[in-house]
Amino acid sequence: MNETFCNAADIFGEDVFNDTTMQKRLPKKIYQALKRAIEEGAELDLETADVIAHEMKEWAIERGATHYTHWFQPLTGATAEKHDSFVSAPLPNGKVLMSLSGKELIKGEPDASSFPSGGIRQTFEARGYTIWDCTSPAFVRHDEGGATLCIPTAFCSYTGEALDQKTPLLRSMQALSAETVRLLRLLGNDTVRSAEPSVGAEQEYFIVDREKYLKRMDLVFTGRTLFGAMPPKGQELDDHYFGTLRPRIASYMKDVNEELWRLGVPAKTQHNEVAPAQHELAPIYEKANIAVDHNQIVMHTLKRTAYRHGLRCLLHEKPFAGVNGSGKHDNWSITTDDGTNLLDPGSTPHDNIQFLLILVCILRAVDNHAELLRESAADVGNEVRLGGNEAPPVIISVFLGEQLEDVLRQLISTGSATSSHDGGFLRTGVSFLTDVNRDATDRNRTSPFAFTGNKFEFRMVGSHDSIAGANTVLNTIVAESFSEVSERLEKCAPGEVMDCVHDIIKEYAAAHSRIVYSGNGYSKEWAEEAERRGLPIINSMVDAIPALTSDKTVELFEKFKVFNRTELESRSEVKYEAYAKAMNIEARTMMQMARRDIIPAIMRYIGDLAKASNAAEAAGMDTTVQKTVLRKLSGLLSEAQAAVDSLEKCTLLAEAMEPGRSQAVYFHDYIVPGMALLRAPVDEAERFVERSYWPMPTYSDLLFKV
Ligand code: ADP
Ligand code: MG
Repeated sequence: MNETFCNAADIFGEDVFNDTTMQKRLPKKIYQALKRAIEEGAELDLETADVIAHEMKEWAIERGATHYTHWFQPLTGATAEKHDSFVSAPLPNGKVLMSLSGKELIKGEPDASSFPSGGIRQTFEARGYTIWDCTSPAFVRHDEGGATLCIPTAFCSYTGEALDQKTPLLRSMQALSAETVRLLRLLGNDTVRSAEPSVGAEQEYFIVDREKYLKRMDLVFTGRTLFGAMPPKGQELDDHYFGTLRPRIASYMKDVNEELWRLGVPAKTQHNEVAPAQHELAPIYEKANIAVDHNQIVMHTLKRTAYRHGLRCLLHEKPFAGVNGSGKHDNWSITTDDGTNLLDPGSTPHDNIQFLLILVCILRAVDNHAELLRESAADVGNEVRLGGNEAPPVIISVFLGEQLEDVLRQLISTGSATSSHDGGFLRTGVSFLTDVNRDATDRNRTSPFAFTGNKFEFRMVGSHDSIAGANTVLNTIVAESFSEVSERLEKCAPGEVMDCVHDIIKEYAAAHSRIVYSGNGYSKEWAEEAERRGLPIINSMVDAIPALTSDKTVELFEKFKVFNRTELESRSEVKYEAYAKAMNIEARTMMQMARRDIIPAIMRYIGDLAKASNAAEAAGMDTTVQKTVLRKLSGLLSEAQAAVDSLEKCTLLAEAMEPGRSQAVYFHDYIVPGMALLRAPVDEAERFVERSYWPMPTYSDLLFKV
């Protein structure tokens, strides 16, 4: 039995062109040049790139690769790739060489004009380039089609505008690094040279049986169930949460882990989640752009491995109404080049001042840009998840934990961090911060942005979405706060910097304490309280998107060269269109399922029941029960039919509209409620129609019979 389990340490990273491999295979000078490019952003010349490309290709061929691809992340939320084989033009002797040039490594030009670009690329000027991101290692992916060398790239237009998720993320990382160094220098640290955001994304997902999945048109076309009555048992017993893995799932996860380890993804934790059939996988945190790439690899691997096991992995944010949805907790902190985590409260008072300053900077960032942060998690599937009774509310707030909140309160009143040492909880100096580490109460599970010991956890991001957007926003808004503080400190006389820091901490803590909330984020009281505090409450994606192009946002992103106005406008267009298209597919899928499967099934059952009822009546029997059921079902049937008809009318109108904001708003205001009106009678009917008549697997089949 044991030999089927491999040693993670042996296989870890074997399919990655990582530092060890590069060091082993590349000539020393080339390796050093590449290292400089990775660590300091130095440019690579073509000769160096040629050598790297050659070695990378040789290594990939040894690992079975026949093709290479520039692997990129367009605005679809997924990854894209176009495969080229290593085969070069045939030689006179009829043989071919396998080649990859430096030019091919560095730059690609996919004919990818159909990717969403929000108008940046008219098809007549459809040039788009993929450019090697040498800071994220290349890897060989094995699948049914053989093995492919995947080269992580950024995707830009001819005019240099970002067409992907990666480019702005990299820009925001540069901004955060520069502003962090600037601030730390002012605080007296003269050795720090760079800083990077560290990110760990916990990935939630559902697993269902593939055969059953294929019988659900809604799952196939939209990734979620558009109909379905709750089974008698849901998640109320919490018996699935952290429960023992079912054998089929355990064997699936074993394969997922092994594949991820081979690809250098440090998959660490796995467990059952709250909802039946729901699970979670968390890797160890990494530099943000690598974490983003790795999260894409995780999603891809979860799906492909499921296929091999006769299963289907659902990454949709809310595949089933009535049980928890899936999210992606984006754990975020800042690490300097000497390995210090700036969000670690530390153990000396001096560090605590720095920590408190950084903390209030983050509060300021989140409070000032709450709409933008909310927008970064706006994704079609997340619409049905956020604000539900088990997902973060749509209101951005920050959880700090009681102790830290108390420190903040005292800071506001006294203006000094040291005065908080009087508190009983601070008997051993700064132990309150250690207590914060231990603080993992149930309450903080409801917060969309929680401090968890030495990092913030942004819990709004959807399970299906890329984490690039949210991290781009986090990096940039925090860079802005740092920059504001630095500007002030630069004006202070050298001896007054620390006093000035104290003032800023006090000022920011006071000005932004409204964003701090430790209570139950799911409660109605919080919504009311948030409104009193003037916090934005943005219920839907269509209402979130305008934050992308507000003056405040444009100014922020232009200042730090993360996005220009054109890029932001294009992204907002892409999002409106994505929303409208997804809603249109959902509405059409519902109508077809209702018309071709569900309504006929109900009619068939009504017909058979009526026949049986007539026969019973002819035989002189009491048919009150039959008649009650018949009346109930025929009422629901008419309701369903009327709902389909009106949904169709609205959908036709919506489809005829110009793509853009008003179309998306129309879908939100009319199609979404129309779909709910159709779902209600159908779900109710499902509870009365005899099981064998129901035309598709039910929630019980999908959730409990894996
Ligand atoms: P939780 O705090 O949610 O119970 P963990 O401590 O296991 O769980 O962390 C969850 C995720 O956060 C993991 O991906 C982990 O690697 C990541 N993480 C831990 N520390 C940091 C950090 N300093 N910065 C960013 N992510 C981190
Ligand atoms: Mg978590």
